[in-house]
Amino acid sequence: MTLQLSDFAAERGIRYFMISFTDLFGGQRAKLVPAQAIADMQKDGAGFAGFATWLDLTPAHPDLFAVPDASSVIQLPWKRDVAWVAADCVMEDQPVAQAPRVMLKRLVEEAAAKDLRVKTGVEPEFFLVCPDGSRISDDYDTAEKPCYDQQAVMRRYDVIAEICDCMLELGWKPYQNDHEDANGQFEMNWEYDDALATADKHSFFKFMVRSIAEKHGLRATFMPKPFKGLTGSGCHAHISVWNNKGTTNAFADKAMPFGLSAQGKEFLGGIMRHASALAAITNPTVNSYKRINAPRTVSGATWAPNTVTWTGNNRTHMVRVPAPGRFELRLPDGAVNPYLLQAVIIAAGLSGLHHRADPGPHHDIDMYKDGHTVTNAPKLPLNLLDALREYEKDTELQEALGTEFSAAYLKLKQREWNSFCGHFTDWERENTLDI
Ligand code: ADP
Ligand code: MG
Ligand code: MG
Ligand code: MG
Ligand code: MG
Repeated sequence: MTLQLSDFAAERGIRYFMISFTDLFGGQRAKLVPAQAIADMQKDGAGFAGFATWLDLTPAHPDLFAVPDASSVIQLPWKRDVAWVAADCVMEDQPVAQAPRVMLKRLVEEAAAKDLRVKTGVEPEFFLVCPDGSRISDDYDTAEKPCYDQQAVMRRYDVIAEICDCMLELGWKPYQNDHEDANGQFEMNWEYDDALATADKHSFFKFMVRSIAEKHGLRATFMPKPFKGLTGSGCHAHISVWNNKGTTNAFADKAMPFGLSAQGKEFLGGIMRHASALAAITNPTVNSYKRINAPRTVSGATWAPNTVTWTGNNRTHMVRVPAPGRFELRLPDGAVNPYLLQAVIIAAGLSGLHHRADPGPHHDIDMYKDGHTVTNAPKLPLNLLDALREYEKDTELQEALGTEFSAAYLKLKQREWNSFCGHFTDWERENTLDI
């Protein structure tokens, strides 16, 4: 039985629903709908002019409708009058194929048809900065190795505890919060879930962190590398695959190296094989490439990968197997679109299973020190254009994610790259004026 949002409103005293969808650039777009109008909106959706968002639609397209998925509804713990609900984009009664949540649902169904249920946990790191974004917000936060800094995390207790309290109330099972490896950087962890549920939580988390930070006069940013020389914000994804019932972890096999089953290795093989192309999704902005491939940071390590390699419990590689039955993809960054992240993991993983892909040998070395000794592993793309070209070459991944999506994404991202290239930088003047 589908939950009636009007009943939900009456039970909880909700006055407004935020009907929210996510566009190709990860932007969350919403209409604030009074509870009195929600019953019709639940059926028909809220109307939008699609061209005004990043979905590669024209001003001549018919109205886009965002139809709420009532199973995702969340009453905002910090503003109880309002409930957020994720929506799926529909146009002329058809799902909009390139809309990220629509795509993810299709891939989840493809996996389910094979009795596979992908479960993931994400670690979206963020910085708390001053309102204009030019510097971190805490003048005392200057340690060279600030990771796990007890004093610094307590100076932000009011913000962090408020966010964590919200997650506790929502039943997300948060279990730890810390100061991360850059000055001004934090991470909060909650329990993994089905890919779609994790994508909705990840979206909501970004909205919640930004909202609560703003309440406290701060600004939260998930930008991959907001400050030169400081560790960037990753968004690692931990991945396991279960049967549809959720009773057996198909990635777990104690007899195999690192406890990763043959099927888990094939799924991983798909991620490795498509890594350079999928970086266009997991590292979607110009700034993303200042995090991966970065020179050593003030703290001593970037904690981000530069090469397509995997290993056991060692954080210098693109993929780490931290414990039996799951692996961690360390490539994605804070700019990743929560829905596209899950979609590309499933698409690449299913391709790996289909081809029985071999992830290649594990390199149990310190990649930052000895990475040069690995000569047969591809280097990750060096910039967004490099990644987009890899994505353009990878027709299999393009088809798995959907041809409409791939065409739209490539077009909009190439335009973004061109816009960046048209921007004159201080570097050019400093290095070219006297040439
Ligand atoms: P680390 O910083 O060591 O990489 P965290 O504790 O910050 O790890 O994050 C680990 C994430 O992995 C959490 O979201 C956790 O729920 C998730 N996770 C744990 N076990 C699994 C599993 N079997 N499948 C998917 N995700 C998992
Ligand atoms: Mg209008
Ligand atoms: Mg972590
Ligand atoms: Mg971290
Ligand atoms: Mg991690």
